[in-house]
Amino acid sequence: MKPLQLIQRALTLVLGTALPLAALQAAPSAPKAWVTGQRIQQADKEPGNWLSHGRTYDEQRYSPLKQVTDGNVKQLGIAWTQKLDWDFGVEATPIVVDGVMYTTGPYSIVYAFDAATGKPLWRFDPEVPRDKGGEGCCSVVNRGVAVWEGKVYVGAFDGRLIALDARHGKKLWSVDTRLDPNKSYTITGAPRVVKGQVLIGNGGAEFGVRGYLTAYDARSGKPSWRFFTVPGDPSKPPENEAMRMALKTWDGNGWVKWGGGGTVWDAMAYDPDLDLLYIGVGNGSPFNYQFRSNGKGDNLFLSSIVALRPSTGEYVWHYQTTPGEMWDYTATQHMILADLQIEGKPRKVLMQAPKNGFFYVLDRTNGQLLSAEKFVPVNWASHIDMKTGRPVLTGAANYLDGQGMKIVMPSFLGGHNWQPMSYHPGTGLVYLPAQETAAGLEPQKEPMFLPIRNVVNIGLDVPSLPEDPAVVKQIAQSWKGKLLAWDPIKQKAAWQVDYPTAWNGGTLATAGNLVFQGTADGRAVAYAADTGKLLWSMPVNSGAMAGPVTYTVKGEQYVAFMVGWGGSFPNITGQLSLGAKVKAEARVVTFKLGGTTTLPPPKMTAAALPPLETVTADAATLQIGRTMFNGLCANCHGLNAVSGGVVPDLRYLTPEKHQIFLGIVYGARTARGMPAFSGLLKPDDVEVLRQYILHRAHALKAELIPAASPPPSP
Ligand code: CA
Repeated sequence: MKPLQLIQRALTLVLGTALPLAALQAAPSAPKAWVTGQRIQQADKEPGNWLSHGRTYDEQRYSPLKQVTDGNVKQLGIAWTQKLDWDFGVEATPIVVDGVMYTTGPYSIVYAFDAATGKPLWRFDPEVPRDKGGEGCCSVVNRGVAVWEGKVYVGAFDGRLIALDARHGKKLWSVDTRLDPNKSYTITGAPRVVKGQVLIGNGGAEFGVRGYLTAYDARSGKPSWRFFTVPGDPSKPPENEAMRMALKTWDGNGWVKWGGGGTVWDAMAYDPDLDLLYIGVGNGSPFNYQFRSNGKGDNLFLSSIVALRPSTGEYVWHYQTTPGEMWDYTATQHMILADLQIEGKPRKVLMQAPKNGFFYVLDRTNGQLLSAEKFVPVNWASHIDMKTGRPVLTGAANYLDGQGMKIVMPSFLGGHNWQPMSYHPGTGLVYLPAQETAAGLEPQKEPMFLPIRNVVNIGLDVPSLPEDPAVVKQIAQSWKGKLLAWDPIKQKAAWQVDYPTAWNGGTLATAGNLVFQGTADGRAVAYAADTGKLLWSMPVNSGAMAGPVTYTVKGEQYVAFMVGWGGSFPNITGQLSLGAKVKAEARVVTFKLGGTTTLPPPKMTAAALPPLETVTADAATLQIGRTMFNGLCANCHGLNAVSGGVVPDLRYLTPEKHQIFLGIVYGARTARGMPAFSGLLKPDDVEVLRQYILHRAHALKAELIPAASPPPSP
């Protein structure tokens, strides 16, 4: 008798009925991807898995794995690599459950790989329309999935939250998370699952939306609650007590037209003991505080950390990092929960380094500020008053004082952006991917609201870069990237590493005394967690921004990097990124000790300019062309038509492309990601843009030709 027949006979004896043999053969040995809250809470019992976005609910991004250590990390080589579909920015943190990696790429495409070999298991494309990129600030990026009870959840760029069957990636349910389908609500963040509910926020604060977080039943997709972060129309009753409180901190009703902002586009954390869910809230919409709220009031809950009851969405406490926010100072940045000894007392803390440049340590039981210090140069506030918990403004960044443009530090890219930090309980240090940036902001006299979805409306003039390459080089040198090993108790760096450019990757700390990070210049690196000594570095072909993860399969430790340059920094300020010699490339690169796989050579941008026709527009027309370009095109193709290597650099357009330029602007390339501007631009406008691009191509040509050597002196 065969084993299955034996089992069937045994079951017949026990149950009294015979099960069909086929049913027994089809029965899986264990449910797939059966992640539960209890499993996440006890994640340290199974350090070989990476069960939720920050590995644990406290989002420390620390792994107890220590097969790879400061002693042997030099032996890390590539175990496997897989190319993703679209070469735009890659920001996902993979989830790894029982030997399967679930991750995402551009356009919210979900991939399941065998975590040991990289073999593709399934792929789900939510088919986000390819020309949707212009409806978000920062490209069609996605920061990963959540996995729960056999389902994989992804927030699609167009605002859908989708549940997939973890076994084969088939869609189970899909909900539209948008409050108003006529507004540019996007999703780039990773969902979290807490107490059987999937939590997701949105992006869109540059496009006039009202922010909120929504909870959906993880099994059915049925909405269970929504927490708004800014008030709605003051002529209607507030939705709840929290909105009643928030409304008192706004003036007039300017924000109603502009949405208010406060999008919850990235960070969340959860403390199961306190049963508190922490959410990070984004900037005001528009940026311009005058248009939004007559330049008055704190504007709750912009730029705040808010604690909620996860079952009901009920407000518990908040801490506002930047009252009356006017510089795109989101507090959506990564939050880490930890228990620290502060002045001899154990404190349950929440740590955040938001865009505004201060590192905050809060008591997470009640939101009390414990300390806050600058981690990068800051000019908008001198310090945080510990009595009131409020910043003391300097006035230096106040663009509403009638004195015109103000240089703001940090810039709208932040002293720290979405790239996740990590906390090592052994060293007590937070590994923070920081950056020193500054930018000019100038208020518009009247809001120049363009009634189309794919144009940023911030009530400020588009901060532009000068065209002069020498000046740009100077600015580029003042924009620096840093890895800070931040001591949250002493509020200062224990060690730091300087990088030549901003926008370096998220970090991972491990029990092997290691900190892993991807870099903007296209490397995967590891430092000693205690001293900062560089121990390992490998090229990965493209800028690596996402937070790396580590896991084991059959006892062997892997370290995975999601690679792919992109997002707001290279797309908008391409001139300040690395000169774009290397084209962006999106892939997973996974390492193990003794790995021997190699990468294909990196893709280089065209070495020479194609033949250029003569510019016929006069200087005044070219100036209009520049304003139009920087307002409409620069969000992807880069200010002054200099790209950062992700979206095509238009100065390299061939004569053939110039001939079909109008068609491309009017929608011929929507399938490849270029939105149609036919509704907004007349053919004459498009020709002005084309003339400006030609002008910039000629300027590049002049730069590339070495200056003729001076004649020998007589
Ligand atoms: Ca923003």
